Amino acid sequence: MSDQRTGQLQEGLLRIEERIAAACERSGRPREQVQLVVVTKFFPADDLARLLTLGVRDFGESRDQEATEKLAAFDASDRARFRVHFIGQLQSKKARHVAMYADLVHSVDRDKLLAPLGAGATQRGILLPVLIQVDLAGDDAARGGVGPAEAPALADAVARTEGLHLAGVMTVAPRDVDPAAAFARLAGVATRIRADHPAAQLISAGMSGDLEQAVDAGATHLRVGSAILGNRPLRR
Ligand SMILES: *Cc1c(COP(=O)(O)O)cnc(C)c1O
Repeated sequence: MSDQRTGQLQEGLLRIEERIAAACERSGRPREQVQLVVVTKFFPADDLARLLTLGVRDFGESRDQEATEKLAAFDASDRARFRVHFIGQLQSKKARHVAMYADLVHSVDRDKLLAPLGAGATQRGILLPVLIQVDLAGDDAARGGVGPAEAPALADAVARTEGLHLAGVMTVAPRDVDPAAAFARLAGVATRIRADHPAAQLISAGMSGDLEQAVDAGATHLRVGSAILGNRPLRR
């Protein structure tokens, strides 16, 4: 697929790539340490197909039903070429299904999700890597996340769950807080968790508006949507 929209997406990708490269340069980090996840939520499967032709291999989706519908547009050989990151708030009744197709779940924020996620992963025959979503606002319940003080206990519980691999932490910076301060706090939580779980190396932080601060604070995964795809259409 190559059309006007492909050109727009390519320009968006180039701009983000420049920002990531500059941020890595300033922070003295190798570019290879930072994985861009292109957040395609609310955009159609055709945009994923276009992004695939542009070399994108990591997509972020936030709703089970929407992700499932989009993935149905790809045959097995195309599907094997890319990874799906589940970044949205998880409902426990959807968790088992998400574990059937997600390659990394960024948004684990409570015990209740662990059994269904682990069951789906076990049925699929994989060890599913998951991140603990940390809420740094305290009052922003709509976005999900476990408090920093409770995160290590949830990490322990993940590590005890068959089928799951504790891979690290994730956050969405609260709106009214300096993102650099939020990401520094997340790095502190990551360090605490790594003391008991050395393999939990991933830090998912940074979106269109704050990826520079995230790179500076050690993010390994950036979740960027609107700066590449444009403003999201309204929720269906
Ligand atoms: C939508 C979303 C993003 C992408 O946000 P942009 O500001 O469009 O880059 C990243 N992370 C999560 C959890 C999201 O829900």
